[in-house]
Amino acid sequence: MSAEEHSGFRVRLAEIEEQIAAACRRAGRSRSDVQLMAVSKMHSAEAVKEAILAGMLLFGENRVQEFAQKSAALADLGLSSAAVGARFHLIGHLQSNKAAKAAELFDSIDSVDSLRLAERLNDAAAGLDRQSFILLEIKLSHEETKTGLDPHSSELAEILERLPSLRSLKMRGLMTVPPYDENPEAARPYFRQLRELRKQFAKAHPLLDFSDLSMGMSGDFAVAIEEGATTVRIGTALFGRRSYPR
Ligand SMILES: *Cc1c(COP(=O)(O)O)cnc(C)c1O
Repeated sequence: MSAEEHSGFRVRLAEIEEQIAAACRRAGRSRSDVQLMAVSKMHSAEAVKEAILAGMLLFGENRVQEFAQKSAALADLGLSSAAVGARFHLIGHLQSNKAAKAAELFDSIDSVDSLRLAERLNDAAAGLDRQSFILLEIKLSHEETKTGLDPHSSELAEILERLPSLRSLKMRGLMTVPPYDENPEAARPYFRQLRELRKQFAKAHPLLDFSDLSMGMSGDFAVAIEEGATTVRIGTALFGRRSYPR
């Protein structure tokens, strides 16, 4: 690894940190109200190591199998998450037949999008004698290709009713991915909508925790922070472009 590559992550992190701080100032929010998640999907264990050495402790991955391999590779590098205190969240769609593996590997499943999946995760976590943290993924657009719960669906209503009795799940909040648009302002109405939904849900379901609002990616995280994001998920702007083999 060249010196330049070696310092690449730190340089990009410093730039992102500056932009996060600026967005927090504009919004009158404290920097400590916003968590930065490094989205390491499609990047190597070496890249994650680089990020950990730069101080990152929260990561997002989108596939169970990819992270199973990466997690083993990190352990080989002496960087098991238990050893360094790093947390890894699943942010990609999870098929319910992989729920058990995901419950074992991840500190949180941020992409829960069906009652069936919530139940499977609850059973898996119970079997592991632990609690799994979850976020509900909300789909605010009508794109066919996107996953997530329709905010007005009976399924979401049912999940919210059932969650207090799914004792091995610890609900923490909501996540959304707005439609891709080059203009970050295009995402603002979606971010605002998620914030409003959270307010509504929290009022209707006082037993549940909705404190985490995970929204905003490389192109639009500043807007998301202005609209109340408590977690921003940043991949490309931290790690560089992903290459898509296979
Ligand atoms: C890939 C991904 C991100 C990060 O996207 P970038 O544009 O690379 O920052 C964030 N959230 C989810 C759900 C993703 O799949």
